[in-house]
Amino acid sequence: MCGVFGIHGHDEAAKIAYLGLHALQHRGQESAGVVAGDRTLRRHVGMGLVADVFDEKTLGRLPGAAAIGHTRYSTAGSSEVRNAQPFLFEYSGGSVAIAHNGNLVNAEDLRNRLEASGSIFQTSSDTEVIVHLMAKVPEFDPVNRLIAALRQVQGAYSLVLLADDKLIGVRDPHGFRPLVIGRLKDGYVLSSETSAFDLIEAEYIRDVEPGELVVADNAGLRSFKLATSEAAPSRFCIFEHVYFARPDSLVNGKSVYRARERMGTRLAEEQPAIADVVIPVPDSGVPSAIGYAKRAGIPFEMGLIRSHYVGRTFIEPQDSIRHFGVRLKLSPVRSVVDGKRVVVVDDSLVRGTTSRKIVKMLRAAGAREVHLRISAPPTTNPCFYGIDTPNRSELVAASHTLDEIARYVTCDSLGYLSHEGMMSTMGAIGEDGEVGVGYCSACFTGVYPVQLGKGGDGELVRLRRNKV
Ligand code: 5GP
Ligand code: SF4
Ligand code: MG
Repeated sequence: MCGVFGIHGHDEAAKIAYLGLHALQHRGQESAGVVAGDRTLRRHVGMGLVADVFDEKTLGRLPGAAAIGHTRYSTAGSSEVRNAQPFLFEYSGGSVAIAHNGNLVNAEDLRNRLEASGSIFQTSSDTEVIVHLMAKVPEFDPVNRLIAALRQVQGAYSLVLLADDKLIGVRDPHGFRPLVIGRLKDGYVLSSETSAFDLIEAEYIRDVEPGELVVADNAGLRSFKLATSEAAPSRFCIFEHVYFARPDSLVNGKSVYRARERMGTRLAEEQPAIADVVIPVPDSGVPSAIGYAKRAGIPFEMGLIRSHYVGRTFIEPQDSIRHFGVRLKLSPVRSVVDGKRVVVVDDSLVRGTTSRKIVKMLRAAGAREVHLRISAPPTTNPCFYGIDTPNRSELVAASHTLDEIARYVTCDSLGYLSHEGMMSTMGAIGEDGEVGVGYCSACFTGVYPVQLGKGGDGELVRLRRNKV
């Protein structure tokens, strides 16, 4: 859960990066940073939101025609400024700056090996491994170094780097996380999502392909293919479309808003309800609730109002605080729900604690019946590829039946979108009937496209990650 941005060939590269990061703020609120320069690179990072980390003065200290930026989300233990990206390192080849969205599954292994041979790590992030691997490659060109380094890493990565007056962008061979290419005047821009391009008025060109590495420098834009990408099927993260990306973005070539709306339409077909009104859980549930209401022929209304002055409630690590978080963030509109049979549409149900609060809130505001509809399948497995879903033990659907979950959240009925339904809305059903062609949906199915690190047990990898 991070946002990355890169720009090459603009007089005020750092300022553009700063603006771009604003449009990627939803991808991470723990820390933000920019590295900018030409041959000499300078860095400013800090904890908190983009608007709080930068001001006129700090941006003024980041001259140069190229820049990369990062917004970071992290688990509780590793939320410290030394892990704020982009990282900037000096090695025998010069300076290299790197920003990463994703999660490497063999980082622990690689790190142990590197430390055993003398590497000294400055952060507890998996991203630093890539730079240490680059430093060991007996080549001068940073692109060759990076390609050689990436041969050894497994997992999810969308990276942007600055090295040797070059902006480099690369996606892992499965393409778990998004990365798009745009044009801004004579220069090139890279971003996790097109939302950043709209803000800075850049033109969207295309997505970086899975397993593709692009280089923007004074010679223009060049493209390379990672050798490891040959046999790797595309596995774009379906959860980007379900929840994570911004609805005004295109990711993996598709409108996030339309994808969510179609999921809502399909949900209405699969899980109808007799009701007077359809309301979304804002903001993430809005497009799918619109799709549901249209298809069901039930009026759509805003029965919950979201305060925009509180961050996402997942930011707070402890359940005890989360409970308050929901009430801080959402309040019911009595005049919409009083005396009504209400369908509440949300994009996903993870722990169930938010949904339980919402159902209680709606009943207290007079709702006669509350039918909860989720525009994704049950979240049954943790993610190891860069989305911070909780451990398996905290995922309510991992150990409870539909009836048990409905009883826990105290709704009158509960219905999820099927996996097949979700994938058919994305056009991801193969000719041979394979469901989910081109996508990762491991958090819904438990089928992990890239095997997890040493030990094989997902929980182990995750605990290690939380601890550092
Ligand atoms: P729950 O009812 O499981 O406690 O919370 C469900 C809500 O959490 C949904 O509204 C969904 O949009 C949101 N959600 C799902 N996954 C994530 C995540 O990874 N991060 C954050 N911040 N919210 C999430
Ligand atoms: Fe996305 Fe889920 Fe796969 Fe993680 S496990 S990459 S959240 S689809
Ligand atoms: Mg939500």
